[in-house]
Amino acid sequence: MQKPTYLSDSELVALAWQARDLASAPYSNFQVGAALTASDGRVFTGCNVESSSYGLSICAERVALTKAISEGAREFVTIAVAAQGKGTVSPCGACRQLLHDYAPNLRVLLSGQEGKHTEHPLKELLPLAFSAEQLSK
Ligand SMILES: [Zn+2]
Repeated sequence: MQKPTYLSDSELVALAWQARDLASAPYSNFQVGAALTASDGRVFTGCNVESSSYGLSICAERVALTKAISEGAREFVTIAVAAQGKGTVSPCGACRQLLHDYAPNLRVLLSGQEGKHTEHPLKELLPLAFSAEQLSK
């Protein structure tokens, strides 16, 4: 099998910004985009999608991850998250947990301004994470 090629971090961040343009955030007016690289090189994007029943809203990161899983991807390398807020915007707790369930060694790129990003290991963003291993007795 051919070794997969991955987009550069800057390219992945640019895709997250593009995905952000598609956000459906009429309630918060806070648009977020994400781009997730699977270990096979495929990239899955997501944007936040809000509901009038606020609790049903879903974050860009989880949209990207569930899209990827629904298309057969199971291992992931890097996610880029793009949002314009105060400083960089990092994934919420729910997203951190779901990402950790599928990709505990994920690299997370946070971009609060186009063309710039910072890099963080997911393990740094979710220390002492709950994991499936803890389900065994
Ligand atoms: Zn989230």
